[in-house]
Amino acid sequence: MLSIFKKKTKEQNVEVVEAVNTVNLAELLTFDQEGNEVLSLIKTLNDTSENTAKAKKDKSTALNEIAKLILEKMGYYAEITDGMNDGGIDVIGYKGNVREIGVQCKAWNPKGCNSRINNKDVNAFKGSLSSKNCQMGLFITTHYFDDFALKEANENLILIDRKYLLEILTNYFPNAVSNYLYHQDLGTQDACPNCSNGKIIKIYRDAKPSFDWCESCREVPRYKA
Ligand SMILES: [Zn+2]
Repeated sequence: MLSIFKKKTKEQNVEVVEAVNTVNLAELLTFDQEGNEVLSLIKTLNDTSENTAKAKKDKSTALNEIAKLILEKMGYYAEITDGMNDGGIDVIGYKGNVREIGVQCKAWNPKGCNSRINNKDVNAFKGSLSSKNCQMGLFITTHYFDDFALKEANENLILIDRKYLLEILTNYFPNAVSNYLYHQDLGTQDACPNCSNGKIIKIYRDAKPSFDWCESCREVPRYKA
């Protein structure tokens, strides 16, 4: 009994080893590389330095674009409507010719806005969904919902707040989000005058004087901070 068991185990091990040998390590570490567009949209959305009318409009446009890209990742054909004529629906997702999902976007700046999205906002959106024959709805905000609004959510009406939105973006656009966080991390460093893409890092070597180095183009520009 024991010897049969051992023999089987050894054969199974061989199978496992063969399976492991066919794994391409580089492939396992490769993920969605698209995302430059998403990266610049996230930058626009998360720039809370200004609260002007133009900044608000840019954020609103960026959030509509992001919602469209998310719907496309979900397998819909997506179209940005002009919200005014579409009863507060900003993006519509189609399956074939059927409009299935309506999205409302509110790019509110948490630093410049004290009130959260409330149940009146959510109920108005519900009304728009049914009048526009959308079965399902997503309400996306860069701010938060209040407790009354959250009670209005159900399986066909998903409320996506700032934190949830980041999770969704991380899931669908990991490359853009990691790039964004990386550059945030280096935010106080100056941009490289050569490539304007990378940040200038000061390198220190023992007691010798420091020099500047670009983490992107890897040049050592003549540069004075
Ligand atoms: Zn550079």
